[in-house]
Amino acid sequence: MTERFTGNFTQQEPIPEEGIAAALDVLRSGRLHRYNLVGEEAGAVASLEREFAEYTGARYVLAVTSGGYAMATALRALGVGPGDKVLTNAFTLAPVPGSIASVGAVPVFVGVTEALTIDLEDLAAKVGEAKVLMLSHMRGHLADMDALMAICDAAGVTVVEDCAHTMGATWRGIPSGRWGKIGCYSTQTYKHMNSGEGGFLITDDEMVMARAVMLSGSYMLYGRHGTVPPAEVFEQVKYDTPNVSGRMDHLRAAILRPQLRALDAQCEKWNARYRVVQEGLRGTPGLTVVERAEAERYVGSSIQFLLLDWDGGRIADVLKRCLARGVELKWFGGAEPVGFTSRYDSWRYAPSSPMPASDRILRGIVDMRLPLTFSLEDCAQIARIIRAEVGAVYQAQGV
Ligand SMILES: *Cc1c(COP(=O)(O)O)cnc(C)c1O
Repeated sequence: MTERFTGNFTQQEPIPEEGIAAALDVLRSGRLHRYNLVGEEAGAVASLEREFAEYTGARYVLAVTSGGYAMATALRALGVGPGDKVLTNAFTLAPVPGSIASVGAVPVFVGVTEALTIDLEDLAAKVGEAKVLMLSHMRGHLADMDALMAICDAAGVTVVEDCAHTMGATWRGIPSGRWGKIGCYSTQTYKHMNSGEGGFLITDDEMVMARAVMLSGSYMLYGRHGTVPPAEVFEQVKYDTPNVSGRMDHLRAAILRPQLRALDAQCEKWNARYRVVQEGLRGTPGLTVVERAEAERYVGSSIQFLLLDWDGGRIADVLKRCLARGVELKWFGGAEPVGFTSRYDSWRYAPSSPMPASDRILRGIVDMRLPLTFSLEDCAQIARIIRAEVGAVYQAQGV
């Protein structure tokens, strides 16, 4: 009897009861807008911003409508505009080059290594071409942040971090999002906290935060925020910064506050699942596991492995066979974007030249989500199934 997995790869956990109760309170109040407050009430959004500032150690936090919005706002707040070039990862998700294109700027793609992090040699070669790096910690893989910052600092390049997959992760004990000038997070359903849609922008820079607050649509009510620079800073930007509305509302903030308190414990649960799958896959012929650096505290909310130098048809075969046994893998290297896009050459609005070394890696990346609704037993079973099917196709391939 061949075993079959019956779990659902897109099923997240329910919202904690405490979050549901807080959300009902907001609904009953009728005051959902972040600036709709009574008396001295702080409101859920400003409270969440304070708590996220405490969690990350950032001076300033702005809660917004999405991770993509946070990234575009970061670029606008830095003054990136039409025709400017912005360095970014060749291996990332569509909202990342999308945020660059949304301000009329042009992505300059930097290659990917077998560790699935940005290629620092390629970065050093291209760093002179732009003033900003939109660094995506794609699928939670952190590059050597000390080395990366040294390259960017030496070239005077400002770093913005896309932490959609690294909320809760650190490099050498320093949280992702705290290395660059700005950190951007998503609280969309498939990330580490779930409010359906939502995000954060964090920074220590007062001009950046004042501009970001104005951009998000503060209607000059910035005094009601929890973590913003003093009024004098706003005086310098308030007449010149357009409103590009993207505020978070109290309903989402109410749902997120208890999730933030549970975040570190949740990250441990993801990592326990990640380790079971990783160990289960280790030693599978033809399959390369992605090793993690010592300095990296990652959050294993998804797992990747490489089928390096495999023929595309064979990779498609592995995916089909795994799916028939209930295991849903994604081939990030597929030539045709399906439901998601993650390679630079699928964004045809952005010019790119071929990157053969990166193409070889991109073609081999297979990805799987690890929702917390899976048990450790489930994870062991999933690994057995992948191992068997990769092995079967690999042997038939005769390489
Ligand atoms: C999800 C995601 C984003 C954007 O988040 P949204 O909230 O969906 O806009 C950015 N970068 C990466 C790598 C992501 O996976």
